[in-house]
Amino acid sequence: MTRQEPPARNDNQPKMTATNHDAIRSRGGATCGNDEFVFWKCDNCGAFAILNEEIETIHTDADDLTQSSLYILGETTVCPSCGSADSYDRARVTDRLAIERSPWAWAL
Ligand SMILES: [Zn+2]
Repeated sequence: MTRQEPPARNDNQPKMTATNHDAIRSRGGATCGNDEFVFWKCDNCGAFAILNEEIETIHTDADDLTQSSLYILGETTVCPSCGSADSYDRARVTDRLAIERSPWAWAL
């Protein structure tokens, strides 16, 4: 059975990737060597998260990447900032400035 992440509603947009893998690792993020970290954003409050698309785990705490949860259909992901359930959608390239001003700026 292939796991499947919840679909992005703006799937036609270019991905906003987090490219600082060294910093992600140093903050405790799990990496597998072939990672693609993509920014996702809470539609309700605008908080960012990063999703490792290779292993389908989402990190919602920019300071502690040892915290992660599976981001797959059938699992509920709660935004720690506003408490909304399943409110994440893929961040857009136009979110870059907001990411630079967020606690996730280091991951760009
Ligand atoms: Zn939120």
